[in-house]
Amino acid sequence: MNILAIGAHGDDIEVQCGGTIAKAAARGDKVFMCVVTDGRGRPKGNPDEIAEVRRKESQASADVIGAELIWMGIPDGGLKPTEEYTAQFVNVIREAKPNIIITHPQDDYHPDHRYTHEMVLDAAQLARVRNYPHSDLPPYREPFPIAFMDGVLGLSFLPEEWVDISEFYEMKKEMLSKHVSQMMPDTYDPDFEMPPEDQNPMLRMIDIQSAYRGMQCGARYGEAFIFWKSMARVLPYRILP
Ligand SMILES: [Zn+2]
Repeated sequence: MNILAIGAHGDDIEVQCGGTIAKAAARGDKVFMCVVTDGRGRPKGNPDEIAEVRRKESQASADVIGAELIWMGIPDGGLKPTEEYTAQFVNVIREAKPNIIITHPQDDYHPDHRYTHEMVLDAAQLARVRNYPHSDLPPYREPFPIAFMDGVLGLSFLPEEWVDISEFYEMKKEMLSKHVSQMMPDTYDPDFEMPPEDQNPMLRMIDIQSAYRGMQCGARYGEAFIFWKSMARVLPYRILP
């Protein structure tokens, strides 16, 4: 089965569903990690060079689990539901042919997250349309569910499905640890080294959130999801690992 995770920024997928896609890859699923924006917003530095650093970090993270990286390259902070960008989302779906998409929940803190959510829903339908004028790829008409991963820090999110990621938590940490530039306090520094785990706010964040979601479902570590209840998006069986 094909699993398409779509995150607004490099590291969003890792934080909220890295364990789930690692587990899916281990059971033999084809996993696509689609990063919507190019991350040029931070750290401080030449935006084009920062974007390239971010792309390489995302590639290294995808390599940890053998996932295929799809880099949409839309400028960080510049995502808007335009026809051009919507067509890019449609093409991603038509290329990946997902059996499930995982993306951001509706109510999350960053506009790129909220627009990603909205545009994934739009594109999922438009990808079915035979005469959609802005894509040369054939329509993708298989029904597939859309799962929304946890919000940042688990806020405004009442889960309805949990994945036990205990055996894949180390892999989730390894994936996130590839995003070294996200730990730089201000300016880009090629010699910067990742702080040790007990002084690393990103690793502390996923430790608390994954342990909390794990506790809810009786596992050491977990990740949580809700699903879009809409026509052609609900199935009578479970897809997440
Ligand atoms: Zn983000």
